[in-house]
Amino acid sequence: MKQKVSVIGAGVGGLTAALKLQSQGYEVTIFEKNHQVGGKMNRLEVDGYRFDMGPTIVMMPDIYRKPFLESGVDPDDYFTMQRVDPFMTVEIAKQRYPISSDLVRLTQLFEGSSDADMAGFLNYLADIYQKYLNAKDNFIYKSFRTPRDFFNWKTLKQALQLKTFSSSYHDMQKFIPNQQLQYLLSFQTLYIGISPFSGPSIYNIIPMIELLYGVWYIDGGMYQYALALQRRFTELGGTIKLNQPVEAIETNRSQVTGIKVAGQTLASDAVVVNADYPYAVEHLLDQSAQRLERISEKEVNQKMQYSMSCLLLYLGVDCQYEQLGVHTIKMATDFKRNLTEIETGVLPNDPSYYLYNPSAIDASVAPAGASALYVLVPVANLQQQQLSETEVQDYVPKILRRMETDFGLTDLQKWIQVQRVFTPSDFKEFYNSKYGTAFGLKPTLLQSNYFRPHNKARKIQGLYFAGASTHPGAGVPIVVTSGELAAQELEKDLSNE
Ligand SMILES: Cc1cc2nc3c(=O)[nH]c(=O)nc-3n(C[C@H](O)[C@H](O)[C@H](O)COP(=O)(O)OP(=O)(O)OC[C@H]3O[C@@H](n4cnc5c(N)ncnc54)[C@H](O)[C@@H]3O)c2cc1C
Repeated sequence: MKQKVSVIGAGVGGLTAALKLQSQGYEVTIFEKNHQVGGKMNRLEVDGYRFDMGPTIVMMPDIYRKPFLESGVDPDDYFTMQRVDPFMTVEIAKQRYPISSDLVRLTQLFEGSSDADMAGFLNYLADIYQKYLNAKDNFIYKSFRTPRDFFNWKTLKQALQLKTFSSSYHDMQKFIPNQQLQYLLSFQTLYIGISPFSGPSIYNIIPMIELLYGVWYIDGGMYQYALALQRRFTELGGTIKLNQPVEAIETNRSQVTGIKVAGQTLASDAVVVNADYPYAVEHLLDQSAQRLERISEKEVNQKMQYSMSCLLLYLGVDCQYEQLGVHTIKMATDFKRNLTEIETGVLPNDPSYYLYNPSAIDASVAPAGASALYVLVPVANLQQQQLSETEVQDYVPKILRRMETDFGLTDLQKWIQVQRVFTPSDFKEFYNSKYGTAFGLKPTLLQSNYFRPHNKARKIQGLYFAGASTHPGAGVPIVVTSGELAAQELEKDLSNE
């Protein structure tokens, strides 16, 4: 008889774990609390506008393709991508920088500042690329089952070679003299919810990956990827139960026995938890299971550190602004101060923000002649700051006015036909994200690699974790990897039974 696996959550981590397991012959059912799959890779459709609600920047396209190839199909039959180049325009102090992953254009950008900046840039790339090779094989694509997997001479030596004790910004600025160019290579740690001024230097691999492997766009918008995973999973016979919040993970001593949904216990041979790890510990595991896992609610609430959140605007605008490419970033005049404000719970007066305009390359996301804009303002999570409705209502027009002046979006407020706001409280309510974070546990040194929650539970047999708050971390390709690692761990255990 097929072994039964229940997956809690249809985010990217849950979908990829489920797909891999279903294609290996398990009988997999995903239970998702919301009415659609994708988790934070979500879509909002209003009046002919289609907004991606969460991720928008596609990096490491091969990882997106992997779950399809591994399940025996051609990914091109499920979703298609195109390269975006220049992939981003960054505005710093009224200066606009189109950033390309084309070496000739990059050389013009860095040499245009000085030869020292260009030489420094090449040295920086070589340095971080070496660290990436080390991290990729020894930490990112490897899961940790036992302390011995990390605390051995070989791995500890490799960890030391990452030289990750300084901050990303500090490590990068050694190479590049020009401060504006330093900023161009540092804001990317915000993609995983941590400041470059405090995040470990290994996260300089994020700008490196953008520059060396390019940035891509999934035709129809990012949500097509969630739909593609859903399609492949159900084609293989997998079951998805939407609007089914799981209430508890059932255990008998140190063995998972199933899950509780709508008051009913459903037996499972194994459970993969994709719901946010800290939420799951607090709400789905009982105290004896928490003790076995050596984790307590106190630890979740007081000891663990959480990434930042964001305030998002989805704007259906009845015109097109030719000056906006797909991805644009406006950096605060005082970037460092902006990040300190976020980390200390102050709503930034002069924020950095990100603008996504897929209508620049995709006519399917808005009615003819209109555009579906998305604005992301990084803000504190709910542990640092609780934004009141009035604060949000007052803040939104400020952002709209800034967009008008920063990018010359004439009459933006007049052209808006649809306007929706998504706040840190919505992250908590919609996705059960602890403290309403957008990116899960903060990737500090003590919450990265071996020290991030593992994909296999410590002591409870048959329990696995996949998702942004677990190893290897946040960001779509990394969460895909997390789903695959959790599935691998499960297979190792269940195939030995
Ligand atoms: C605004 C934003 C922008 C981003 N931009 C990018 C980007 O450009 N590029 C990139 O690569 N990454 C980006 N990311 C990060 C990336 O989207 C996430 O890391 C990734 O989608 C997280 O997937 P996940 O599976 O870990 O979790 P989630 O997406 O949170 O999925 C968890 C699922 O579990 C469900 N769930 C929770 N509790 C229960 C329960 N009790 N029962 C049943 N179901 C439950 C939730 O509803 C949810 O569907 C962005 C994230 C955000 C929020």
